[in-house]
Amino acid sequence: RQAAFRTDLGTLLDQVGTGKESLSFMKRRIRRLAAQWATAAQRLDLKLRRRWREQKKILVHVGFLTEESGDVFSPKVLKGGPLGEMVQWADILTALYVLGHNLKISVSVKELQGFLGVPPGRGSCPLTGPLPFDLIYTDYHGLQQMKQHMGLSLKKHKCHIRVIDTFGTEPAYNHEEYATLHGYRTNWGYWNLNTRQYMTMFPHTPDNSFMGFVSEELNETEKHNIQQNKVKNMAVVYGKEASMWKLSQGKEKFLEILHRYMEVHGTVYYETQRPPEVPAFVKNHGLLPQQDLQQLLRKAKLFIGFGFPYEGPAPLEAIANGCIFLQPKFHPPHSSLNHEFFRGKPTSREVSSQHPYAEQYIGRPHVMTVDYNNSEEFETAVHEIMRTKVDPYLPYEYTCEGMLERVHAYIQYQDFCGVEAPFPPANISVVWPGGLFMQMGDSGLVSWVVNSTAPPCWPPLSALRLTISAEGQSCVDTCRSLDLVCEPAFFRFVNNKEALSKLQVQCEVVEFEMNHIFPAFSTTARECGLQKEPLLFSCAGFGAKYRRVCPCRDFRKGQVALCQDCL
Ligand code: UDP
Repeated sequence: RQAAFRTDLGTLLDQVGTGKESLSFMKRRIRRLAAQWATAAQRLDLKLRRRWREQKKILVHVGFLTEESGDVFSPKVLKGGPLGEMVQWADILTALYVLGHNLKISVSVKELQGFLGVPPGRGSCPLTGPLPFDLIYTDYHGLQQMKQHMGLSLKKHKCHIRVIDTFGTEPAYNHEEYATLHGYRTNWGYWNLNTRQYMTMFPHTPDNSFMGFVSEELNETEKHNIQQNKVKNMAVVYGKEASMWKLSQGKEKFLEILHRYMEVHGTVYYETQRPPEVPAFVKNHGLLPQQDLQQLLRKAKLFIGFGFPYEGPAPLEAIANGCIFLQPKFHPPHSSLNHEFFRGKPTSREVSSQHPYAEQYIGRPHVMTVDYNNSEEFETAVHEIMRTKVDPYLPYEYTCEGMLERVHAYIQYQDFCGVEAPFPPANISVVWPGGLFMQMGDSGLVSWVVNSTAPPCWPPLSALRLTISAEGQSCVDTCRSLDLVCEPAFFRFVNNKEALSKLQVQCEVVEFEMNHIFPAFSTTARECGLQKEPLLFSCAGFGAKYRRVCPCRDFRKGQVALCQDCL
């Protein structure tokens, strides 16, 4: 069946259900952004030239909202608790629905069992028949619940699963045996999925798929009005819970400096009394409904972060409403190795500031990332912000059209059941697909000439640009430095001796090993290492003394998840 774009969200709103504050929050959001989604659907429909899209049967099981997982989020919706996840789930539901798929939504184990056709109350009674869905979107909690209630059959069906995973999961943590042997075991990882089945909130490492969410979009009149009504000396502080304001590490000092020049506003939740963490000079509005926060941001000039929360939606909303986002640089970067918040998360990703996406993908003049230990630098930044005029800005990938485009592409082209599984036998050294020839380009990058017998692949192999990292560098950084992005789907084509020789690497020995930094070669021993376990192909991996073989690809401006020829 063909999927047809939907612009009326009534049925979706009915499907989301009631009875929890989190569901009400999501519904308010869906309603508020409905018109924006509808316009985006029409635009994308035209852009794709009304192409035929298959309608998929999709189950969305929101594990963290189930009573069985404790549902710690719902009671905090109106009390300053985290909302980023709910923002994202509301947008995922809307995107899938607007794209025209056949959607079922579950927020309890009972509903999950019902949809999967597993008899209730039978413990781990496996699902015997075929899976009644093409795709299942869930999270780590939901995955655990499915394991408990689908038992053995989860293994069989797992290529259909997508895991919404805010901070991301790296290959070394995902591979159970490898993680256990090499110290990457956490409470979350080790599901042996293809790591592109994990979908993140921001484009962290391309080892995962970037799902994202959307932010409010402004038309030209609104943009114009915003410029007219900006209050040059108005700042809003990022952080809706008093604990985020714990005036640790000189935060008080910086608020004082800021207060010298600007009127400082906050949206910190409180019950009856002003939270003691919030200084008296701060005009606190209390936790605001999303749409009132947008109004506040429209007036403000500066949105300022003090280090927590990490990587949330609010800075994008602020920038989209014409604020400049000022945030602390983390030196050294925060990660699961040195920071409590990230400890136990299945990634070693180094978080270089409160919001690395804002820092790396947006940057000046919309984002200023400075060293807060240096009060001069901080003060200079505040001055500069008051002088600088910026237009509201929203990267295409965070618009409704951008999200629909990306999710459409994933649904139609990502296939972890077919083409990519089973993987080519790992211990055959050369898996050289027919129809491919490599050529060295002027830039020193190896690219491919692809003819009609080339193997099917998405992204298409024409996007591949092969290169070698510097010693100790990951493929994430290597590709980024070339203005490209690492593409894990291509590793299987370059994990061979031919690729090494094309890159003019001379190997005395070639080893086949389970090692998340392979393919790579050691600079000291002239040893080359090829990857034995395709699940361990990793853009993020790096090792001292190793230079990595990196499959990079191009990307669309404002839509890093997709290559030029990806649609
Ligand atoms: N938000 C809100 N009212 C407020 C402050 C924030 O509705 O007073 C919303 C905001 O619009 C954003 C969401 O909370 O979409 C999540 O924001 P944040 O970046 O703080 O991330 P979190 O830590 O909650 O995941």
